[in-house]
Amino acid sequence: MRSAQGTSATKKKMNGYVGFSNFPNQEHRRSIKRGFNFTLMVVGESGLGKSTLINTLFESKVYPTKDAEEAPAQRTGVEITSVSADIQENGVRLRLSVVDTPGFGDSINNEESWRPILENIESRFDAYLAQENRVNRSKIVDNRVNAVLYFIRPSGHGLRAIDIEFMKHLHTRVNLIPVIARSDTLAGREVETFKARIMADINYHGIQIFKPVSDQFDDPETVADNKAIAGKVPFAVVGSEKLVERDDGTKVRGRRYPWGVIEVENEAHNDFVSLRQMLLRTHMEELRDATDVGLYEAYRTQKLLALGHVQDNAVFREFNPRQMLEEEERLHGAKMTKLEAEMAAVFRQKVQEKEGKLKQSEEELHSRHQQMKAVLEKQRAELEDKRARVGAGQAMNPPIDAVVAHPGEPIQRMPSKD
Ligand code: GDP
Repeated sequence: MRSAQGTSATKKKMNGYVGFSNFPNQEHRRSIKRGFNFTLMVVGESGLGKSTLINTLFESKVYPTKDAEEAPAQRTGVEITSVSADIQENGVRLRLSVVDTPGFGDSINNEESWRPILENIESRFDAYLAQENRVNRSKIVDNRVNAVLYFIRPSGHGLRAIDIEFMKHLHTRVNLIPVIARSDTLAGREVETFKARIMADINYHGIQIFKPVSDQFDDPETVADNKAIAGKVPFAVVGSEKLVERDDGTKVRGRRYPWGVIEVENEAHNDFVSLRQMLLRTHMEELRDATDVGLYEAYRTQKLLALGHVQDNAVFREFNPRQMLEEEERLHGAKMTKLEAEMAAVFRQKVQEKEGKLKQSEEELHSRHQQMKAVLEKQRAELEDKRARVGAGQAMNPPIDAVVAHPGEPIQRMPSKD
């Protein structure tokens, strides 16, 4: 593995217990001590049950609810209001902020209803960015919106223009979770076709919505749970702050109809349990993470580039795999060229050495040849000399008449008979 700094890490097997496997427990303790922040925004026209659902989700009166008959307050446009509540469960503290958007979709002309909400979400990113750029960053207040519950009117006909416009303008800035409001007003089969239509619209318009996904660390049970939850999107929900009596006399959170009771926490009746499971029990941290490293990071990069900041190359490489690849290819190319040059130099040196040796042995051969030639010359001269001397001697000595040769014996010179 190669890090951004170019150092490499190898996998090492430990021989004993060192203790860092306890890190998740330390994190757990730290999180409990500090508590969590979670900011949830609810968007949808008045009377769709937003406040009721929030109170049902957190089992507390986080938000004031209205009567069904109560006429919505007269507003000239969309307002953004926020309430915060500290909720404790098993010693874990959650600082929950619920951002409401009253007035959304309530005007005669709702064309630009999404704009103040987008501006609000971006201004929260800006506030975070400004704190990040401060010298002292120890006390950053994080008010970024972690998820938007978008309430769809239970019409049964698919998404309306206002829904599509909203989601199209907001999906790159926030985790969108679409819910079918007051789903008890739709018949069971109607809910399924309505869901299919909504998803078809969402896909057609290329809208990204938040869906629970599994990773390689999840066990098969979690993977199956996540799949089941993802299959329920958009969640058809029912909210109620009241307890109603069932036929068997037990009391449950739900809504009473002349024909029976719709139970909020009954998965056969609606998707409230799956929504709560995803939002609070299994994917709250993923929503916070997606806000921080996905949505906010993209906004921050865009914003800083627009302000004329030059991209920090080391950071950019981490987020730009293509550039990383090109850089690696360039380094590899340079390495290969260097290797080739080194090999050519070694080859040249070896050839030179060989040529030197050959020349030396050629010279040695030549001088030996000369020496031998001189020796032979000398011997020839001596022989010539000897022959001359022998010629001179023959004239003084008697001639040899006969030579008798016996095999194996030296040649005998026979004296002449006369
Ligand atoms: P908001 O304006 O979207 O915040 O809506 P409220 O939560 O104030 O609810 C408006 C009315 O709708 C109240 O009378 C609620 O009791 C009722 N209501 C809320 N949730 C549901 C639901 O799931 N089904 C039905 N049938 N009524 C609901």
